[in-house]
Amino acid sequence: MEPDTCSAKGCQAPAAWQLLWNNPKLHTPERRKVWLACEDHRQSLADFLGARSFLKDVVPHGTTDQPDQPDQPEPPDQPPAD
Ligand SMILES: [Zn+2]
Repeated sequence: MEPDTCSAKGCQAPAAWQLLWNNPKLHTPERRKVWLACEDHRQSLADFLGARSFLKDVVPHGTTDQPDQPDQPEPPDQPPAD
């Protein structure tokens, strides 16, 4: 089984974190989208979502059920380049 990889653009690192977020313009309040992040990208992805008030929670990868992931994570905009 392939390990889950980080959602940051171009990053192939294994995911260590799950960023749970919600865009109130697109999603109902209880819905959670999930981005996966490696150690290096957790902060930048969290900052990206936090700046838009989308970020709800950050949890270690694998500790929760993924509530809404029928498909790949869908960044609302381009993730930050680094
Ligand atoms: Zn990464």
